[in-house]
Amino acid sequence: MELWILCHRCRKRSGKRRSKVLVDATVYLNFMKSHRCYDAIPTSCKLVIFDTTLQVQMYGLESHRIETWRDVYLQYPNQLLVSISPEASLFDAIYSLLRHKIHRLPVIDPESGNVLHILTHKRILKFLHLFGKKLPRPAFLQRQIQQLGIGTFRNIATIQQTATLYDALSVFVERRVSALPVVDEQGRVVALYSRFDVINLAAQKIYNNLDMTMQEAIRRRSCYVEGVIKCHPDETLETVIERIVTAEVHRLVLVDKADVVKGIISLSDLLQAMVLTPAGIDALVS
Ligand code: AMP
Repeated sequence: MELWILCHRCRKRSGKRRSKVLVDATVYLNFMKSHRCYDAIPTSCKLVIFDTTLQVQMYGLESHRIETWRDVYLQYPNQLLVSISPEASLFDAIYSLLRHKIHRLPVIDPESGNVLHILTHKRILKFLHLFGKKLPRPAFLQRQIQQLGIGTFRNIATIQQTATLYDALSVFVERRVSALPVVDEQGRVVALYSRFDVINLAAQKIYNNLDMTMQEAIRRRSCYVEGVIKCHPDETLETVIERIVTAEVHRLVLVDKADVVKGIISLSDLLQAMVLTPAGIDALVS
């Protein structure tokens, strides 16, 4: 990635320039290495713990218990719970979130086995936002997203607005992505449908009506969703970070001037570029 190339390129330049660029590239890496997961846990927060004998209260599934689902899930050898110790660094937490392609990382006290918190990409970025204000501002923040190459730009999984909910679920399963831009016939983005929306189908008890079109599914969404949050290739990394943090979303859809989908920039991509790439690690490779 570009930030890494920058580090290599700078070797040819003067010593002064080299150290400036290296400091630039590693400022967030060092911050994450020098803070523990414990530091990022808010002073006060809610954590809901389910009893595994609780029944799953949904039409048609009432006889299921959480432990039944858990047993099915644990049959697969790779499905063990990924967790982290409160003493581990935030750098390790980021690596784990990205490497395992998960969005929630339980922080578990190794002695008591108690879950202290659930770390997310959003929480880590918020921690950086709150406590990293005095950090030097790396020059790459002013570079355009297309120059830095941050995000996914090829083979974007999308869904037509006329396709069914069943089609969308199939794409989620096949591609293992966390959200699908919903597009019209011209490939212009009209909405975003995420795995979170799928969970809400169950809450609304409409999960057995998978023939409805995506248009209908979006219309029937219970929670208010404010349009699609987009960005353009010529916008700077700083603008993109600002937008994604302010909107409290997990990803932006990269579009051209006609709103045609060109890519996805998720919090995983930003953490990869800001923290892991400067360490020479690519955790997003499949
Ligand atoms: P996420 O789990 O959403 O943080 O994304 C993990 C990786 O998948 C990132 O590199 C994203 O750019 C990429 N990604 C997310 N959604 C899609 C999609 N619909 N199509 C292709 N790649 C995606």
